[in-house]
Amino acid sequence: MTIAECRLCGTGLTETFVDLGMSPLCESYLPVDRLDSAETFYPLHVRICSSCLLVQLPAYVPGEDIFSDYAYFSSYSDSWVAHAKRYADMMTETLGLGPESLVTEVASNDGYLLQHFVARDIPVLGVEPAANIAEVARGKGIRTETYFLGAETGAELASRYGRADLVAGNNVYAHVPDLIGFTAGLAALVKPTGLVTLEFPHLLRLIERRQYDTIYHEHYQYLSLLTAQRALATAGLAVADVEELSSHGGSLRVHARPAAADNLGPTGSGLGWEPSSNVKSVLDAEAEAGLHTLDGHRGFAEAVFMIKRNLLDFLLTARAEGKRVVGYGAPGKGNTLLNHCGIRSDLLAYTVDRSPYKQGRFLPGTHIPIHAPERLAQDRPDYVLVLPWNLRTEISSQLAYVREWGGRLVYPIPELEVV
Ligand SMILES: [Zn+2]
Repeated sequence: MTIAECRLCGTGLTETFVDLGMSPLCESYLPVDRLDSAETFYPLHVRICSSCLLVQLPAYVPGEDIFSDYAYFSSYSDSWVAHAKRYADMMTETLGLGPESLVTEVASNDGYLLQHFVARDIPVLGVEPAANIAEVARGKGIRTETYFLGAETGAELASRYGRADLVAGNNVYAHVPDLIGFTAGLAALVKPTGLVTLEFPHLLRLIERRQYDTIYHEHYQYLSLLTAQRALATAGLAVADVEELSSHGGSLRVHARPAAADNLGPTGSGLGWEPSSNVKSVLDAEAEAGLHTLDGHRGFAEAVFMIKRNLLDFLLTARAEGKRVVGYGAPGKGNTLLNHCGIRSDLLAYTVDRSPYKQGRFLPGTHIPIHAPERLAQDRPDYVLVLPWNLRTEISSQLAYVREWGGRLVYPIPELEVV
């Protein structure tokens, strides 16, 4: 048997982080005419590199197969759009961006972020691999190119549109199988004096909060600040600052600069500037939690099994008592959870989602139907299993009306909770 190699350092991947068995691509929502056809399942076996500690899913599925016709439209989440606006406000002020500047976003989706810069007359360039989503962004007047970022495409885009003062990448750094090529692309897009910011879920929170359902084929790596630093360094980008965010269950926003930027004044660090104290404190917290050693990553698999056991116990009991359980949301993470636990429409009659793209389709693997949210008020189920727990505050208030008929909300992660 051949052993996959670490995409960062090339070491053979012999250590398991967690093995979730076989699962279909979690964004492959099925139309009704595909229900009777075969479906492809891929391993969800997450490894950790014993040398550089990068937690990673070997590229069982090429990125082109996943992201060319993607179903995730960022603008369907109110809190995510608000998060993007706060970022745009902060960056415009901190960097003094204006009509002479350029903001480039990689994986710009439907323009949920860049629209806030466009509203301030700041030139933007979106780089989005999914043609269907890029088209939506262009429809909103947001300049968008359909590309997968790599070293060559980064250089080509920079030569056509110029290098950017700010290069943003939100929830994309975990999604690239060619981590080194993508990082080279980032370095090609940014000015020598510019800034790259990347948001990605923090491995520390994934482990602490048992967010194992964020593991799916679209997520090729699960980053700590330490491993992100190692990845960025491959293209000469150095971490200058880091923020801890609550999005996606606990993310990092890393601020990186070209390490060769020599016009920022000598400070003796060899960088021309010093990393902020936040960088040290996040690294210290990771080290404290054991994330800077191989052994510190063990034990996660057992925590994952407990979640599965408790959720199945709940659903089987509810079923035995004649209660009706349905889902809320059809996020990718829900599909990992449902497939891993073997939950089908006998235990979860259907789910609902606000995205018209998903309504009328079926969840991959489990074939649970997806309806519009209005269905909940018509059916008045006993329990609503909330799948996108990262939007818990938003969803709790959206679903307050479930209490009117005595229904209750169920959160499966980090541990089963019925509220
Ligand atoms: Zn490695």
